[in-house]
Amino acid sequence: VSRQSTSILETLPEPRLKVDKERGWLLESDSRIISFRVKTFQAFIDRLAAMAGSQVAATVLYGMGTEIGHNVFLYAKDRIKSDDDLGRVADEVMATNGWGRCLQMTKRSGEGKTVYTFTLSGTPFSHERESGEPTCHILRGALAGGVGSFVDKKAKACVEKECASMGASHCVIEVAFE
Ligand SMILES: [Zn+2]
Repeated sequence: VSRQSTSILETLPEPRLKVDKERGWLLESDSRIISFRVKTFQAFIDRLAAMAGSQVAATVLYGMGTEIGHNVFLYAKDRIKSDDDLGRVADEVMATNGWGRCLQMTKRSGEGKTVYTFTLSGTPFSHERESGEPTCHILRGALAGGVGSFVDKKAKACVEKECASMGASHCVIEVAFE
């Protein structure tokens, strides 16, 4: 896997986190954020799957992801001029928010469809965990939503072909459009 340029990270400002003790707020560049541990986040997702079943949970998490992807696209759209920028911006957004890296993005077209393939490392859903099925549903949705916003189409399919939770070296997510 060939890496996206690491220089992206060097050009970005360090995120400035501030605590507003009076209000009990955590601020990143004056936007309020909240934080919790990755293990807490995983427990929260596991609870959803235990309560709703893994299929419903996957659908709900994917839907949440598409909203994230759409919103990320809105604030990053000035930096996405072409398909080639999708992988770079995905990497930038993931890396600066603690979601891991997007190491590679490839695109192939044929038989009436276009498929974007993202190779990810260090996702929070696969962090120190083992699973019999892929776990990165929110990222699957985020990529489908983000790329979908860029191409102005709804993804026909979005599949996590390989997941680090299942012992793969990376998470590989394919988003297809007709
Ligand atoms: Zn994964």
